[in-house]
Amino acid sequence: MSDMRLIVAGAGGRMGRTLVKAIADTPGLTLAGALEDARSPLLGWDAGTLAGLGENGIKLTGDAGALLTQADAVIDFTIPAATLALVEQAAKAGKVHVIGTTGISAADEEKIAAAAKTATIVKSGNMSLGVNLLAALTKRVARTLDQTFDIEILEMHHNQKIDAPSGTALLLGHAAADGRGIDLAKRSVRSRDGHTGARKAGDIGFATLRGGTVVGEHTVMFAGPAERIELVHKAEDRMIFARGALHAAQWARNQKPGLYSMLDVLGLKD
Ligand code: NAP
Repeated sequence: MSDMRLIVAGAGGRMGRTLVKAIADTPGLTLAGALEDARSPLLGWDAGTLAGLGENGIKLTGDAGALLTQADAVIDFTIPAATLALVEQAAKAGKVHVIGTTGISAADEEKIAAAAKTATIVKSGNMSLGVNLLAALTKRVARTLDQTFDIEILEMHHNQKIDAPSGTALLLGHAAADGRGIDLAKRSVRSRDGHTGARKAGDIGFATLRGGTVVGEHTVMFAGPAERIELVHKAEDRMIFARGALHAAQWARNQKPGLYSMLDVLGLKD
């Protein structure tokens, strides 16, 4: 089979640069284009140079339409507004869309699900193997323990992150809620301040820390009467997300239209 040709959206960003590096290291994949915000000062820069690889001849551009004609898939770790615009363009062009962007609103999630009726989309708040295994374990533990075990999700990220709780914390919250057979939207407590009253049994709490250069740390706690179980994941390098996203693109090449998660890609769905 010929090489799969990929566009990296947000190629000047932290994840974008890591993806450019990961594509160069992966046999069977070719970087077909590098996309950035049309107002970015990085337009015209060489994607390989930005990624620390040396020049690769792929210049950052703001024109998604032109790039999409020359590629099989777009790997998108950008911002919600950019992802929403790309969803429509990639679907129209019939290209696979791998979405790592987090902080997408519920209304926009619905638009993505609607586009996936005719387009192949893989979307996950965390593309790493470790976190997806952690999600499967979280679901299992939540299914086993009753409401005497309070579920709390703690996350820490670097000081440049713009959304909270992290997409991964929400992914783990959904896994816990699925295990318990409840609706996360109705039972999540996103923050606490002041006189909050006692914790309600069955709620799923979130706590957020921001600082330094932390790539991403997540703990799911099951705090019960006189004992506590903690499931922990610590990301040490963005490369784990990039490799997961590339694996998702290769997997999606042979899939029918639909909205898939990394649990589908990794065969972890039960
Ligand atoms: P970042 O460094 O800020 O990168 C985002 C990039 O997207 C920036 O270069 C930004 O350009 C660019 N961008 C903005 N608008 C665009 C547009 N219209 N078209 C193309 N590119 C555009 O952030 P990051 O740390 O790489 O993270 C990016 C996203 O991925 C975040 O939502 C983050 O939470 C998520 N993430 C997900 C995973 C996962 O596994 N799912 C892992 C890590 C991060 P400007 O700077 O010019 O605005």
